[in-house]
Amino acid sequence: MVVEDEPSLADLVGSYLERDGFEVAITGDGAEAVPLARQVDPDVVVLDLGLPGLDGVEVCRQLRTFSDAYVVMLTARTEEIDTLIGLSVGADDYMTKPFSPRELTARIQAMLRRPRTTIAATVAQPHRFGDLALDVDGREATVAGRPIALTRTEFDILAALARDPGVVLTRTQLIEAVWGPSWVGDEHLVDVHIGHLRRKLGDDATRGRYVRTIRGVGYRMGTGS
Ligand code: CA
Repeated sequence: MVVEDEPSLADLVGSYLERDGFEVAITGDGAEAVPLARQVDPDVVVLDLGLPGLDGVEVCRQLRTFSDAYVVMLTARTEEIDTLIGLSVGADDYMTKPFSPRELTARIQAMLRRPRTTIAATVAQPHRFGDLALDVDGREATVAGRPIALTRTEFDILAALARDPGVVLTRTQLIEAVWGPSWVGDEHLVDVHIGHLRRKLGDDATRGRYVRTIRGVGYRMGTGS
């Protein structure tokens, strides 16, 4: 699904995606995006930030209440990405205009190629870290029995870390495990998703119970205590 109010850009992105074999639904209005998403149940949403009706942040928030589609947010300025990250809107990736539609579709293809099944197959069920329980096959995380609503990216990061709890994963290794080896982008995105994960898990950045920062190296699972 493409949500973009510049018709020429929406059509351009749509035609690249169709060329890659996707079925594409387009809307240029934020208020129409949410009902359209309910109707078409998209795998991926390319979402412009500045939209009439409802802005991209609000569309993403509403989308997240019923959809775990990958969301790529389009922004007009690079600085907006930091603001968006601060708002924790739950997008999986960000691109600043002008961008290459070829790069956008390459990133989307890489997202969809993520090795989820490999992760699921190698984690014992369920994984427990104190109050945190992780059911990788069922794609469910609970803290003290309370389900935690994670985006697909957040869940995949947690599953990748849980696969080998004693091992520290570097950002590059996490990107390979979650986004796939062909992903090109900023490693900083890993920290962003870890930040969201911690907030949702009620974890502390400096003394993480579940996701520990190993300074200068990367991340590993904590014991939950
Ligand atoms: Ca716009």
